[in-house]
Amino acid sequence: MSASSRKDNDIARQVVAHAARRFDEDGNPLDAWQAISFALSADLPLPPSVRAYLLDAARKIEVLLPAPGRVDREVAAAFGLQGKQGSNLFDRADRKTHDFTVAFQVWHRDREQPPDAKVMATYQAVAAEHVERCPCRTALKWRAVEHAWLQYAHEIIPRHLQSQFPNAKPGAILKATRTRPRS
Ligand SMILES: [Zn+2]
Repeated sequence: MSASSRKDNDIARQVVAHAARRFDEDGNPLDAWQAISFALSADLPLPPSVRAYLLDAARKIEVLLPAPGRVDREVAAAFGLQGKQGSNLFDRADRKTHDFTVAFQVWHRDREQPPDAKVMATYQAVAAEHVERCPCRTALKWRAVEHAWLQYAHEIIPRHLQSQFPNAKPGAILKATRTRPRS
């Protein structure tokens, strides 16, 4: 496995775990689908609750006999993807999930930076790769990447590192915990 695909695999593993945790908390099937998408694309096992959700949907789909004109609605219902009255489940357009994934990329990208590199260079690198790597196919400015990092860093930086730098800002922790040796 190449270094970059190993890195993608690490990111996928963490996104799967995080999406499954959110699914367990709020039951939003979109979180399950994010876990499914990342798990399958990286050949990872599905978390138990996500697997149970998928199995349940499969069983419902398998026996579905919708009346004409009701196919869309009943399929959506089988997947738990029907919004509550008047609301659209997809409205949240999952900014949170998106930005969380961006923040993960910051963490992983920064691990490879030389000890003295500016943190901004990491944000810029993640921003530059974004259109290619993200399903949203949207260009991100480095400021947006920084914003995502600042928002989710506390969920991503391993606890033992956070406790080593209790008063440091998330950007400073990145720099302080780089593992690449000085050349
Ligand atoms: Zn994106």
